[in-house]
Amino acid sequence: MPDAVNLTPSFRVDGLGARLARRIWRPRCLLCGEAGHLGLDLCSACVEALPWNRSACDRCGLPLPPAPEGVDGTSATCGACLRRPPPQRRCVAVFRYAPPLDRLLPRLKFHADLAAGRLLAQLTAAGCEGAD
Ligand SMILES: [Zn+2]
Ligand SMILES: [Zn+2]
Repeated sequence: MPDAVNLTPSFRVDGLGARLARRIWRPRCLLCGEAGHLGLDLCSACVEALPWNRSACDRCGLPLPPAPEGVDGTSATCGACLRRPPPQRRCVAVFRYAPPLDRLLPRLKFHADLAAGRLLAQLTAAGCEGAD
């Protein structure tokens, strides 16, 4: 039998302790300090300001101009991918890199702000729902 590498029980991030902590320390917006919205550490105004990448190329994820009125813009491929298809069939880029997201990403990447990481993971998961 191989030696066990990690004998420390894993910590559940959605366990009872985490749920109790969220009841005691209510969600606050990481960007402006207002009350959180829908259980997120982001207020409703900052949620509205998020740069969702709703009109994007299916193959590479780059933003595309919004679809004209009355045209289904949920599936499109950019000219570069039509001319030279990339190896991947699908790419989902949930956000464009723009304010206020450009303030959250460096907080996780350079300052180890795990609350920003949790928020980005929640938003990314929400943005990927329905994408397949
Ligand atoms: Zn806010
Ligand atoms: Zn493309």
